[in-house]
Amino acid sequence: MTANFLQTPITYLKGVGPGRAETLQGELGIYTYQDLLNLFPNRYIDKTQYYKIAQLQRSNADVQIVGKIINIKTIDQKKGKRLVATFIDETGKMELVWFRGQKWIRENLKLNTPYVIFGKCNFYGGIFSMPHPEMELLQEHKNSLKIAMQPIYPSSEKLSSRGITNRVISKLVQQLFIETKANFSETLSENLLEQLKLLPKSESLLNIHFPKSQDLLAKAQFRLKFEELFYIQMQLLIKNLLHKKKIKGFNFNQVGQLFNEFYKNHLPFELTNAQKRVIKEIRHDLGSNAQMNRLLQGDVGSGKTIVAVMAILLAVDNGYQACLMAPTEILANQHYTGIKELLDTIGVRCSLLTGSVKKSARKPIHEQLENGEIKILIGTHALLEDKVKYKNLGLAIIDEQHRFGVAQRSKLWHKNKFPPHILVMTATPIPRTLAMSLYGDLDISVIDELPPGRKAIKTVHRYDSNRLKVFQFIRDEIKKGRQIYVVYPLIQESEVLDYKDLMDGFESISRDFPLPDYQISIVHGKMKPADKDYEMERFVKGETQIMVATTVIEVGVNVPNASVMIIESAERFGLSQLHQLRGRVGRGADQSYCILMTGHKLSTEAKTRLETMVRTNDGFEIAEVDLKLRGPGDIMGTQQSGVLNLKIADIVKDNDILKTARYYAIQLLKDDPNLEKAENKVIRNIYAQLIKYKNIWNYIS
Ligand code: ADP
Ligand code: MG
Repeated sequence: MTANFLQTPITYLKGVGPGRAETLQGELGIYTYQDLLNLFPNRYIDKTQYYKIAQLQRSNADVQIVGKIINIKTIDQKKGKRLVATFIDETGKMELVWFRGQKWIRENLKLNTPYVIFGKCNFYGGIFSMPHPEMELLQEHKNSLKIAMQPIYPSSEKLSSRGITNRVISKLVQQLFIETKANFSETLSENLLEQLKLLPKSESLLNIHFPKSQDLLAKAQFRLKFEELFYIQMQLLIKNLLHKKKIKGFNFNQVGQLFNEFYKNHLPFELTNAQKRVIKEIRHDLGSNAQMNRLLQGDVGSGKTIVAVMAILLAVDNGYQACLMAPTEILANQHYTGIKELLDTIGVRCSLLTGSVKKSARKPIHEQLENGEIKILIGTHALLEDKVKYKNLGLAIIDEQHRFGVAQRSKLWHKNKFPPHILVMTATPIPRTLAMSLYGDLDISVIDELPPGRKAIKTVHRYDSNRLKVFQFIRDEIKKGRQIYVVYPLIQESEVLDYKDLMDGFESISRDFPLPDYQISIVHGKMKPADKDYEMERFVKGETQIMVATTVIEVGVNVPNASVMIIESAERFGLSQLHQLRGRVGRGADQSYCILMTGHKLSTEAKTRLETMVRTNDGFEIAEVDLKLRGPGDIMGTQQSGVLNLKIADIVKDNDILKTARYYAIQLLKDDPNLEKAENKVIRNIYAQLIKYKNIWNYIS
């Protein structure tokens, strides 16, 4: 059946009048035959299964039971009457209830005759009841032809109130299959069908709507999910390829003296295999004639900085400037200090530019940047000011990506005649599944290995009632010379209350840890930036032992001597935030601890979050749990990306299919980047329509 025929307006389908058409459009977005064909069932009811009354669970699944009615009575209630029948099988007893059509039912139901009933059960007053069951005499049930798996289509109140029940939709789909002779053109190549042993298109559509068996249903689902994910990946990968062709980048073709000298003689430690691999990936990009756009993911403490330094040296070796931008002054300062120390070993100078660099000091920086004397600049947003002009910026590194908006990134981009290579470093792990779909057009490197000798942070969950013990623990750690963070939540809606919590907490800690033995810093969002920095500095220098703070310390602060992170009201934090906070400790050689404090009342979800934190330190695992708990909608960046408009695949559950789809899309483009080969004609056509109409399911039929 050609795609054209499938564009027929839905009103032409037998059984759809103007009224129904309007409802179908309004409620389900069904305008054409094709839209109806692509209305995939949410789930299926297995009518091969029969339940006993004793097996019933308090779930909202539909169940099918064989039994008989032993009595029936009308009960008066506030509004009208209800009809209640007692229904039994050999294992127990339940009720069937009707609120409408009682007269007809009363006259037609047979007592003490075997029936098959079907529907959802409620549990009230110690007994299961099924309102308005579907009923069929067992005798007739045995004789009638059954679809083993009954599809359940998306529904809405409006649909049911206008009589468009699941059965009606199913009938309409049946009619559609009759009018189209169930013959739909194939939308994947022979090659793919063969290699993956996929069900052909027509057979898949048939089995998604009218499954002949569990097995065929599973195959149909796999094929359609694969197809959906495959074309999304094709789109992302081709975008990436085009980008590489169009946007020429500076070619850092030589691995020069500085890089080699540093690598051979001045590395402060042996690189981990993950670091080596990532540096190789970056080197390859930088020497490929195309502009690099790479996202470097690595858990806190995985050692991203040294990777940045190596990339910077490649730029300088090739005669270009490089800059590194951090989201806060503290972080920029820390990067500057750390990187300067590394570069001093080979006599390479770097400069710092932040908001608090004085005007008089800025002028020479601006000049030397423009005449190329400064090769490496580290700083904050100040790097983006219009006054800042580079001679030849070849590489821009952005740390902690999520703090920067896209607009800022593109500003950096336009600082130059040609776009510099871009390396974005983030410690916010984006689950691999999501990263693949979101950033399929960005290259991703992952440092999935911590430097050796790191002691895993010990995480525990403690109730507020154990506070005294926790305080004793703090005292012991301070005695050993360690420093402690105590973090309070700060959530916009209850800012005033949170602020009070923080101040109360600060007071209570000040009482238990009195001057002059203990010095305490406090940092929160209401302080002036200068005061905040001052307090932070005191802690960084080791002048204070305890840092009481809101989540402002979440990002990247590095105090290796701090070994205990106490998170108050931990149940109120999201998983990724908890993980970020925990990452502030465990940076030195000492054993570190993270203590999650909560009250006794915890939601199931909060419990899962706490348990996950206690169980694992792996940021990616945590991100996966987070994704499952919250769904991808809440995770940054997914809203706009369109990955959520999937019709049949599920980005979390169908992770494996996604990987397969991506793999085959990559292979195909390697073999035939312009989709010129005859064998890929189908894919080329579909892809062309995809680009044109933007909606995958508008054309894959
Ligand atoms: P992050 O990925 O969080 O930015 P850093 O680059 O700040 O991590 O590194 C964290 C700490 O680990 C630093 O003190 C750094 O010197 C150290 N480090 C990094 N790589 C290694 C390595 N391969 N071996 C030993 N220590 C390392
Ligand atoms: Mg870092």
